Amino acid sequence: MTQTQHIIEQTEKYGAQNYRPLPIVISHAEGVWVHDPEGNAYMDMLSAYSALNHGHRHPKIIAALKEQADKVTLTSRAFYNDQLGVFYEKLSRLTGKDMILPMNTGAEAVETAVKAVRRWAYDVKGVPADQAEIIVCSGNFHGRTVTITSFSSDPEYQRGFGPFTPGFKIVPYGDLEALRAAITPNTAAFLVEPIQGEAGILIPQEGFLKGARELCRENRVLFVADEIQTGFGRTGRLFACDWEDVLPDLYIMGKALGGGVFPISAVAGDAEILGVFNPSSHGSTFGGNPLGCAVAIAALEVLEEEQLVKRSAELGAYFLGELKKIASGRIKEIRGRGLFIGVELTGPARTYCERLKALGLLCKETHETTIRFAPPLTITRENLDWALERIRQVFAEA
Ligand code: PLP
Repeated sequence: MTQTQHIIEQTEKYGAQNYRPLPIVISHAEGVWVHDPEGNAYMDMLSAYSALNHGHRHPKIIAALKEQADKVTLTSRAFYNDQLGVFYEKLSRLTGKDMILPMNTGAEAVETAVKAVRRWAYDVKGVPADQAEIIVCSGNFHGRTVTITSFSSDPEYQRGFGPFTPGFKIVPYGDLEALRAAITPNTAAFLVEPIQGEAGILIPQEGFLKGARELCRENRVLFVADEIQTGFGRTGRLFACDWEDVLPDLYIMGKALGGGVFPISAVAGDAEILGVFNPSSHGSTFGGNPLGCAVAIAALEVLEEEQLVKRSAELGAYFLGELKKIASGRIKEIRGRGLFIGVELTGPARTYCERLKALGLLCKETHETTIRFAPPLTITRENLDWALERIRQVFAEA
């Protein structure tokens, strides 16, 4: 039995079966490359669902992690720490928002935004107690907590997990008229992914985000952008909302904020909204810990220093263009922005991911029929050409 086989067996035996990974064990990684225990190398084109925009173990981020680990790792928010303020200021300048609220995972940041907009609705907008409504989109993915699962339109995410949290309305993604019709005086917010990642890299029609932003402004509804997967350069802009020059009331961020090293998430918003929190209304033992903050500060610096947003735009355009040249009856549609690309097939995508894995390229299907390509933004054009060779080969065999 190889080490890989042993590790997979052990993992499957003792773990709950809430994932179906490709049969590869990663025991070492650097940049865009990962290695299994037998020493085989693979190119990572999933980037941990866009958490690895900086690549694996970016030297500057690892150095920040080690340096901070030698000083102080956790204080809890019972005390101040010397990294949190620096992190706040940096993220506040980047987002153009007055205030930041730090959490750990993406789902926690979404929960934070839900609490913020509800309290804003009662305290600022004047919605009657417990009547606040939040509008979301069909096909959404915002995380896995019970409240977030409550407004999923995917039965598989909900089955057996009720009773659910009330107060959410679902409208079709991209449908401005449906959004207009769903808004009532009790609407607190519209929560949206500017590009739906888990749904299969779905890009809304041009004008949807801008139109939704306008509708929200006219009706005093908060526009909340879930940029957890799309933020920090993934789509070739700093935030995917930038594609339509839309400024949300709240940004929800996670994944790449932690540089692929540490879970850190955050909500950014102006004082009128995030000011609704008072001591003890919300919090997290690990949220805002100095280790996470030091890592995030380094990750944000690398984003600027290495111009990852620009790289994503340029290399993404090249990669998308080359993918679109592949002539195959199996390909239904190819869509993407920056290095966030979905290849929708006419049938299941899993077998293609398995064949690409056999050729040394790691990617993952999303929603059965779409292959998601989302490599680290540090990838080079030569790396992309290497990947393209393998992708062409797999479709030539199809
Ligand atoms: N929101 C979006 C758009 C996501 O893509 C994800 C994760 O894939 C989440 C929220 C949840 O983040 P986490 O898995 O860190 O809780």
